[in-house]
Amino acid sequence: MKKGKKMSGAAEQFELIGIAKQKAEETLKNAELTKTLLGIIKEAGCEKGCEKAIGQLLYQLATKLNKGKESIRSQIIAWIVSKKVTNINMDALMTYVNKHQELDIPTIEKECGVGVIVTREQIIEGVKQLLSGKMEELKKNRYTMEGQLIREAKDSIKWADGKILNEELMKQLKEILGEKTKDDIKKKAQKKSGEPNKKEEVKNLPKQKNVDSGVKLSNPADNIQKTPEILAEHLKRTGGIYVTRFPPEPNGYLHIGHAKSMYLNFGYAEKTGGKCYMRFDDTNPEKETHEFISTIEETVKWLGHTPCAVTYSSQYFDRIYDCAIELIKRGKAYVCHQTPDQIAASRENKQPSPWRDRSVEENLKHFKWMCQGRYGEGEATLRMKMDINSPNPCMWDLVAYRIKFFPHPVTGDRLCCYPSYDFVHCLVDSFEDITHSMCTLEFLPRRESYFWLLDALDMYKPVVWEFNRLNITYTVMSKRKLHALVDKGYVRGWDDPRMPTIMGFKRKGYSADAINNFCRTVGVTTNTTVYIDYEVLEQHCRDDMEVKCKRAMCVPDPVKVILTNVPDDYCIEVVRPNHPMNDKMGTNTVHLRKVLYIDRSDWRDEDKKGYWGLAPNKVVGLRYAGNIICHKFDKDVEGKVTCLYCTFDADKKEKPKGHIQWVSSGVNGAEPARAELRYYDTLFTDPKPESPDWEKLINPKSLTIVNGYVDETLEHVKPLDCFQFERVGFFCCDTDSKEGALVFNRTVGLKESKEKKQI
Ligand code: ATP
Ligand code: MG
Repeated sequence: MKKGKKMSGAAEQFELIGIAKQKAEETLKNAELTKTLLGIIKEAGCEKGCEKAIGQLLYQLATKLNKGKESIRSQIIAWIVSKKVTNINMDALMTYVNKHQELDIPTIEKECGVGVIVTREQIIEGVKQLLSGKMEELKKNRYTMEGQLIREAKDSIKWADGKILNEELMKQLKEILGEKTKDDIKKKAQKKSGEPNKKEEVKNLPKQKNVDSGVKLSNPADNIQKTPEILAEHLKRTGGIYVTRFPPEPNGYLHIGHAKSMYLNFGYAEKTGGKCYMRFDDTNPEKETHEFISTIEETVKWLGHTPCAVTYSSQYFDRIYDCAIELIKRGKAYVCHQTPDQIAASRENKQPSPWRDRSVEENLKHFKWMCQGRYGEGEATLRMKMDINSPNPCMWDLVAYRIKFFPHPVTGDRLCCYPSYDFVHCLVDSFEDITHSMCTLEFLPRRESYFWLLDALDMYKPVVWEFNRLNITYTVMSKRKLHALVDKGYVRGWDDPRMPTIMGFKRKGYSADAINNFCRTVGVTTNTTVYIDYEVLEQHCRDDMEVKCKRAMCVPDPVKVILTNVPDDYCIEVVRPNHPMNDKMGTNTVHLRKVLYIDRSDWRDEDKKGYWGLAPNKVVGLRYAGNIICHKFDKDVEGKVTCLYCTFDADKKEKPKGHIQWVSSGVNGAEPARAELRYYDTLFTDPKPESPDWEKLINPKSLTIVNGYVDETLEHVKPLDCFQFERVGFFCCDTDSKEGALVFNRTVGLKESKEKKQI
């Protein structure tokens, strides 16, 4: 009873700050988010309501502020309420505070444009300056520079309202160049499709190519179309090359599954001499952010892929709108006023919507009203008039447009009516002349609707080709789950080395080569349940690091060793190869002094057969230096050894049984460089964490931190430098590392772990 009452109170509160009903209902399902949001509303003094724009920012704050950042929350709330933070700089602010450890208010204000108001006059002036430096170029390239200019203007006039900026830029461009001519429009279309200016003859089309991973795609000239003219036009535009695209939704970081998709799409284009677009499928403004957009671009580049162009589904919104109008005119779309629940029920019962048979004029009028903001969220949708009697639910009048009063990261608050994934994806594939639209198998039922729409508009149709999603044991790949891991603080962020994100792997120490090599070997099947063993990925990483990484020494659990037979200021130079198997990698020099440290695991109070480490009166070699023999040791009250007294034999008169790594003290017995070593285990305890209770399968011991010593060659390492710490494992310097406070992530062990193998 009590709970129900509280929830309905929460629902009211959400409504009062302008959150749409459907979103409020979703939010209420998440008890933690509900609690956070209610706390924020209270603190903002908005319990009796507030402007919708402020409400949306408070909502964003509740969903986006990472755990552990509560100390800055009140300050952000104050900024939102006083309108010093708006939808122009909210994204930047969230990214900044989530990313930085030290949060100093003046720096945040400066970095995130808090309180900065850019007037229309300043925008006019900024645009003027930008264009005046480009007159020559402008005269030559005219309107083809539009996209580039918008980006440059956004960069140079920071914190400007995107809508005003666009307007001013277009106005001034028009003053300089005059109205767009037919030629301008044609050139721009050519530039967008990446087509060379001279028309290529459609001959010598490439033969069907076979690329590794077992992918064999049909010849673009064999793509089946409604009419031969459509195909001929397409081939004329592309010259018959293979055209693919990688279309992530910017609602999270890319994961290792995306790496496979990229490997297929970019790889196929590259190997056939074709081209591949990087396309942001940004039709869902609520979940998409600039942080995700820029990280995705960075990730694609880091993996070594070169898109022929970076596009956004949103850049085609005008063309997509025209398609919607055309579809309505052809009698194949209608405006429906059923609620989402009613739509679901009538689809279930195969009942047509009561609005299905409106006239074209009615539909045009109501669709325009939808786009003008005359309807509230959920009050109207545009639906495609497909086939409600089809056995395929994807043919039951899918929604083409829905209303969302939410600013879009690219188009800003220009629109309040957004096309759906189902409407956009095939249209943009067609606009970009994609020859092979590769997608994961769950899209198989959507093939029919994909072709239905393109045929309904007499447009060019790509081949749709499905492949299985990549799954890896002991991790999850769904973005919903990845969001939960980050939002609920199970990990330290999207690039936490335990995450299956590409940025997580990078931070852990994986190279792009290791990831791409892995993708090459996993192959393509149509079996959706296959899980690739996590060890396979680790082995690719190990093979790669084995060849590339310099060697160095570290002792994760140090025990002091005093050399008793050398003077106090004893110091010798020890020259070591950077790589034992590769002379070309050179050498490095470290010092060995009277006090040094070895790892606790290399000491035993009593020697035993088959044990290679140090024990009383046993000769053991120090890697690259002489031998030591321990003749006395101290223990603390718990029986833990605290100091070993050894004699040193620089000449190695005896042949030792084993060699151990060591780290020397500095000048005058100074402590060696300390390092935080982060050891990672799998994120889940279950190889297939699929159950609804998947959060219970999270490994509580996925991170273990130990504080050890590293040798002097590591004192000035840079983040992302990788090493093999001899006998310990492969490590990568973490981005949290600072001089004097080094942090290393263990990328992978030297050998496959036995326990995991047993599992
Ligand atoms: P989710 O359903 O978890 O949100 P998604 O498939 O919607 O993931 P997108 O960002 O839309 O994620 O994916 C971009 C491209 O990458 C799509 O073509 C998608 O099919 C592909 N992809 C996504 N996940 C995997 C995976 N695990 N293995 C292979 N390809 C994938
Ligand atoms: Mg998707």
